[in-house]
Amino acid sequence: MRRPLVAGNWKMHGTRQSVDSLLKGLNQQDWPEGVDVMIAPPALYIQQCHASLIKSPVYIGAQSCASQAEPGALTGEISPAQLRDAGCEYVLVGHSERRSLFGETDEVVRKKFAAALACGLRPVLCVGETREQRDAGLTAEVVGTQLQVILDAFGVGGLAQGVVAYEPVWAIGTGLTADPEQAQDVHAMIRARLAIMDDEQAQLVQIVYGGSVKADNAEDLFAMPDIDGGLVGGASLNADEFGAIARAA
Ligand code: PGA
Repeated sequence: MRRPLVAGNWKMHGTRQSVDSLLKGLNQQDWPEGVDVMIAPPALYIQQCHASLIKSPVYIGAQSCASQAEPGALTGEISPAQLRDAGCEYVLVGHSERRSLFGETDEVVRKKFAAALACGLRPVLCVGETREQRDAGLTAEVVGTQLQVILDAFGVGGLAQGVVAYEPVWAIGTGLTADPEQAQDVHAMIRARLAIMDDEQAQLVQIVYGGSVKADNAEDLFAMPDIDGGLVGGASLNADEFGAIARAA
């Protein structure tokens, strides 16, 4: 069966000092067996995290990467090969903040997904609808299009080398969590869409939920049959809460 994944997205938070104390807290957690745990710190702190968590089961991920694997004249970018070199196992691609604030299109997301796979990183493909899109009944269409770009390029087998994170934009950082049934509906829709193409691979794809996941709602969300863990923003900045969320998976 699918292993759950609980991933923490630190976004643009932290200083060397606060990262140090968060790492101390993470190193004191009792990590559950059978659950993949990952943190995605700001790129500057990846090596600090990697060194500190070397004996822990927690994987390191990055929040984004360049859309090409090869070195090149791309001022300010970090290639997935460099992330791998620094100890990363995962990279988020297409987070809604990257899409809406940095203009990342589905085509850019596809290139990043490809570059990540080429470098041996597991891309975490983030998909999700805005409030207006949900209210207009467009959730399936929006999420379907974001997925299809990846499916056309890599098939379900390629997607299964990464992870899907369903993150309704209206639930991110707002405290408004999708209720477990609402989230499950979309997760089931995603899996059904994959199953039409390749049922066997579709059952293997980890689909995690993101958007105001907290210690007190994680258990109900993770109890849903198609929710294979969570992508946690704000609550991942507290080691004890993040540990509790991982233990809920
Ligand atoms: P949140 O963020 O948990 O703070 O809502 C989730 C995310 O953006 O990945």
